[in-house]
Amino acid sequence: MPSPELTERIEQALADLRADARQVSDSIHARPELRFEERFAAAILSDRLEQAGFRLERGIAGMPTAFRASIGEGRPTLAILCEYDALPEIGHGCGHNLIAAGGMLAGLALARAFRGAGTIQVVGTPAEEGGGGKIVELEAGVFDEVDAALMFHPSDHTRMIRHATASRKVKVSFHGIAAHAAASPEHGRSALAAVIQLFVAVDALRQFVPETARIHGVITDGGQAANVVPAFAAAEFQLRDVTSTGVEHLLERFRAAVEASALATGTDGELTLGSLYTERKNNRPLAERIGAYLSAQGMPPEPPLLTGGTGSSDIGNVSLAIPAVHPYVQVMPRGTATHTAEMTEYAATDEAFEATVAAARALALTGGDFLEDGVFRDEVAADFRDRGPDVPMGAR
Ligand SMILES: [Zn+2]
Ligand SMILES: [Zn+2]
Repeated sequence: MPSPELTERIEQALADLRADARQVSDSIHARPELRFEERFAAAILSDRLEQAGFRLERGIAGMPTAFRASIGEGRPTLAILCEYDALPEIGHGCGHNLIAAGGMLAGLALARAFRGAGTIQVVGTPAEEGGGGKIVELEAGVFDEVDAALMFHPSDHTRMIRHATASRKVKVSFHGIAAHAAASPEHGRSALAAVIQLFVAVDALRQFVPETARIHGVITDGGQAANVVPAFAAAEFQLRDVTSTGVEHLLERFRAAVEASALATGTDGELTLGSLYTERKNNRPLAERIGAYLSAQGMPPEPPLLTGGTGSSDIGNVSLAIPAVHPYVQVMPRGTATHTAEMTEYAATDEAFEATVAAARALALTGGDFLEDGVFRDEVAADFRDRGPDVPMGAR
């Protein structure tokens, strides 16, 4: 527990600030913005933090919608991360409006309550849904001086520790030769045929990859008219496995499939690689502390999940570089799937916001512990040093 004075001041701050945080959550929810376009969300969060006395750096790491808000001086430095991008078509079906408002609320409450040495940061991390904003920030050195990073993710259950699949998005485009499909097909080379060939090749190699691997794709451009041989066609795939090394192995074989498809169809294939989302290392002391504060609010966490299929997040990359946690907090009924219209609906309810305040309280109290208690900081650092990433048992 943080000192009784700090705990009391955090409580008071949460009570004062929660109504405004609800507004922030609802207004971000009402204006869903796709990855790297989160101008409204980044501005509303930055402005609130600046008004509360945080020093604002906007547009960090070369991303206009990224920001870092800092208050205090020197080490230790605790960062609370906010995601705020939405999904195409379904809006906030991953509940990032709650991550944003909850992260802001935790940062504001802790900043108001904490009077010791150290720095509190709230870091705005754009484009979790495919753009890897945290990876860009990591590579730009945003987390170099950070001793621990905390965040939470809305879910249909409460769980502190989960493995995450390493993942890489790849865009493939094929360039062929256009021709009239009836008058002179012999002059054409179909880029669409190459894309179809690639899907067939991927399905052929699918049987011979580790059972933990996942390869899935969609055709994003298949030509314009049936009577024109398509000179251009494109697809997007995601390659996943339980480790980054596994994904890189898949990529080698995928690359060969692209080359073979181009060769077979007389076209040129071109690969554009997205960032590699790595596996995750869950810091145990941080996770256990957050779990204890959620339990105290009647939300006991489920046991760690370290097997089976999971999604991916760019928090993985951060967690391999510094102590980090990505707990899941139940904001909606059990069985509600993420990335659905149902979750979009729940992300704006009173119940979801109530759970978000509980998460913000747990993050602020854990942050208070981290800043006040050197022994706890040592435990966090030792766990980070001694533990490997969480990958399913028996995985390579
Ligand atoms: Zn998502
Ligand atoms: Zn998400």
